[in-house]
Amino acid sequence: MARLTIREKLEILADAAKYDASCASSGTAKRDSRDGKGVGSTEGMGICHAYAPDGRCISLLKILLTNSCILDCHYCINRQSSNVRRARFTADEVVDLTLSFYRRNYIEGLFLSSGIIRSADYTMEQLVEVARSLREDHDFRGYIHLKTIPDADPGLIRQAGLHADRLSINIELPSDDGLKRLAPDKNAARIEGAMGRLRADMDDHGDARRSYRHAPKFAPAGQSTQMIVGADQADDRAIIARASSLYDRHRLRRVYYSAFSPIPSPSTVLPLRRPPLMREHRLYQSDWLMRFYGYDAGEIASATDPATGCLPLDIDPKLAWALAHRDIFPIDVNRAPRERLLRVPGLGVKAVDHILRSRRHRQLRLDDVARLTASIAKIRPFLIAVDWRPTMLTDRIDLRARLAPPPKQLEMFV
Ligand code: SF4
Repeated sequence: MARLTIREKLEILADAAKYDASCASSGTAKRDSRDGKGVGSTEGMGICHAYAPDGRCISLLKILLTNSCILDCHYCINRQSSNVRRARFTADEVVDLTLSFYRRNYIEGLFLSSGIIRSADYTMEQLVEVARSLREDHDFRGYIHLKTIPDADPGLIRQAGLHADRLSINIELPSDDGLKRLAPDKNAARIEGAMGRLRADMDDHGDARRSYRHAPKFAPAGQSTQMIVGADQADDRAIIARASSLYDRHRLRRVYYSAFSPIPSPSTVLPLRRPPLMREHRLYQSDWLMRFYGYDAGEIASATDPATGCLPLDIDPKLAWALAHRDIFPIDVNRAPRERLLRVPGLGVKAVDHILRSRRHRQLRLDDVARLTASIAKIRPFLIAVDWRPTMLTDRIDLRARLAPPPKQLEMFV
């Protein structure tokens, strides 16, 4: 490998990391550096945000330790047989970069992943060393998200959890068949085994902290995973079911969905085109419905197209579900329980909670609801207020066409 400057390495390894969607720093415990001790904070003033060319927030320094890899996953630009320029940081270089970007307020933390060099254990050791050095040698209090390698020694992953806020293990593809075909060196059972161990470690440390105040924290922002959408044959129904089972079994904080993007010199087993970005967006919406609106995977699946197994692209999954279950509407805004109100298209969690507070004091009119939402037109057919009762609106066969956003609004996701 030719000798590269830090800047050249950064160009290569930040670019290589952009394919990873799981960079959000949600759910972290607050570490405050305003006491003048230590460096960095995940909250508060002076945090700069940057956006990748594809629009994702990268307020973390998001890089790979190296884009060299001994494996050959077909969908990956960094696979062994890929003809890309390679680079590799040392652990110290990543530490220095993180600190210098942090001190300049460019970032709020570090997202670090890596191709596999030499072995899973060797690579994991390097990742852990970056996090350890930041925390122990430099008292770094910013956010750290480490991508872990499922085949690495569980003891190393445990060490990672003592330094990082969040750990993630990529499930890679929604179906086991897809994984076998596109990432033959990976194994779904081993990946889920690593997730299960991580959950057990989090539970153990959680128990210890409840008993002993000084017990160490372990990955306080939980674990997450990422699935590539559209590289294999899995439809949205299968993806939603897989995500739901991962949430249940491993208590993941987030599942990220990343629309497959074609890579240079692709393998012949890959599709030629990427799926519409709107498909990724609809999956995120359905994920939101499962996590915050009380829908289960089966309910969301009932809103998919029976022929394709996919969510409609022109309307959001909550509206699709409501149109497929018109018999439960309209819902009375002044009487319905929270879980029913959350089913009304266009009413978000905050709006519903506001409604519940307001109606303790007075009966709500349609205008009161309109003030809480972006579009009352979308809500009207599904809601009863003190001065509003829709007549036969949910029976209209053109209701879907009337509520779908104009095609122009969808263009940016194509
Ligand atoms: S192990 Fe990771 S970096 Fe290596 S080829 Fe597979 S997806 Fe790419």
